[in-house]
Amino acid sequence: MILQVLHGPHCDGTDIVRHGQTRQGQPRYRCREQPCAGRTFLLDYSYPGQSPAVKQQIVAMAMHASGIRDTARVLHVSTNTVMTE
Ligand SMILES: [Zn+2]
Repeated sequence: MILQVLHGPHCDGTDIVRHGQTRQGQPRYRCREQPCAGRTFLLDYSYPGQSPAVKQQIVAMAMHASGIRDTARVLHVSTNTVMTE
């Protein structure tokens, strides 16, 4: 059995708990790390670039002058997705 260590997409923290699921039946998680203050997120996007939360983050990171490559790496999306946003 492979133990999957969950990392929050916002802070990369590991204090993650299950938090129900979406209408589509995807497991939802909640980050209990201090900086996130209970933000919820999904792990199993078939394609992360499609999620509104990720798009928001792409824009936010771009505003803070993160490199496109860094943004793509952190958010697990392609550089094309970042540039499109
Ligand atoms: Zn977090």
